[in-house]
Amino acid sequence: MNVLLIAIDTLRADHLGCYGYDLATSPQIDNIAANGVLFEEFIAPHIPTHPGFTTIMTGKDVFEHHIVTQGGAKELSEQIRTLPEILHEHGYFTAAADNMGRWFERGYDLYKRFRWGRKTTNPWRKGEAVNRAAFKVLEACDSQDKPWFAFLHYWDPHTPYLPPRPFDRMFYHGDEEDPTKDSAYEMMNNYPAFQHYFAQWMPGITDVEFPKAQYDAEIAYCDACLSHIFTCLKQMRGAEDTLIIITSDHGEELDEHEMWFDHHGLYETNMAVPLILHHPEYFSGGRRVAGMTVHQDIAPTILDAAGLAQASADNQLEGESLLSLAEAESDTGTRQSVYISECAWMKKRGLRTGQYKFIESLYDELHKRPPFELYDLQADPAEQHNLAEEKPELLQSFRDELATLIEKRLGETGGTDPILEQDITMTQIGSVEVAVPDDQILEKDD
Ligand SMILES: [Zn+2]
Repeated sequence: MNVLLIAIDTLRADHLGCYGYDLATSPQIDNIAANGVLFEEFIAPHIPTHPGFTTIMTGKDVFEHHIVTQGGAKELSEQIRTLPEILHEHGYFTAAADNMGRWFERGYDLYKRFRWGRKTTNPWRKGEAVNRAAFKVLEACDSQDKPWFAFLHYWDPHTPYLPPRPFDRMFYHGDEEDPTKDSAYEMMNNYPAFQHYFAQWMPGITDVEFPKAQYDAEIAYCDACLSHIFTCLKQMRGAEDTLIIITSDHGEELDEHEMWFDHHGLYETNMAVPLILHHPEYFSGGRRVAGMTVHQDIAPTILDAAGLAQASADNQLEGESLLSLAEAESDTGTRQSVYISECAWMKKRGLRTGQYKFIESLYDELHKRPPFELYDLQADPAEQHNLAEEKPELLQSFRDELATLIEKRLGETGGTDPILEQDITMTQIGSVEVAVPDDQILEKDD
């Protein structure tokens, strides 16, 4: 079968209708979910973008692929085969509309970079720029006499949120510069690493609800852009035998932990991302799968769907195929516990289980959060009540479990511990124009 992998950067699951959000941000994606299979507890264990996509594209964790930072000097080892490389080797036509470059370009017959205008006073139309590249990718796929894999990478919910009309006012009806409001005061004035950036992006903003509504507007804009992709797909010869996968590399912190409008912190806001599968014949009917699943499971799932389960085994992918879970409507996930990490704005790691989140800080970081955090995800899903001091025995058991897991993975991989070897790469955002990690952004779209 053909595979269309759609990643929407910075998309948290809980802001989509199909994951229970009460605003109409995602009618197109909801429709795919209503006719496909949705994974309710899908986790991005290694954030942000570079670790996230490397985990998706290799089916391996950071102990194997060693990409823990954002934009760091470390390159992915040539010994590790990426998903498009494996598919290409097995006769697939492989194509992408993406702008990450580096090892993310490996294995593609066609790698189409997109660009968008960046005048900060204007809305950004990133989704339409990606679509222009995506249509060329899909046209090339449609002209093949062999199965194809296409990867489309959208960026709309990434900061700065500058959605075009009419999306910009869709979820906000107040006066964002109302001088009697001061809910944005702390964000705009007491957050040195982002202060200049926010002043440039949102000059004069007093209401913190405004950027939150702009985040939702970006999702709605991206969702509308996807309608054109789904229409295009329906007109293609292989549409009836195409697996659609919708996911994200990480979510976003809005105002939950005073880490305003970016994706750092190992909280559910950043880690709980969507995963939706759709195939007209095999994955339909609006099933929902409970239980924890993770980024590492995407590559083995795609290879399994392509009839290449043996290639997963040959390449020793750490994740597991989700096909049997999707078909059986099972309530189990693929694992009870997962190692989580971040080494971009802060250096942290921990464990997430179905009930608990344990986070350990390895560096005196930007936000001055406590050195240890422990949350009961069922009693406190917003992760507001740190149990680390109240439950010292439970904390110690998680510290022990983490140490055991690290030792086990280092033994299995025979390698070194990447988060101890690499430094954080992000300390300051100076300008809206460089906020999106892309050195290819030009004024004029090509
Ligand atoms: Zn990202």
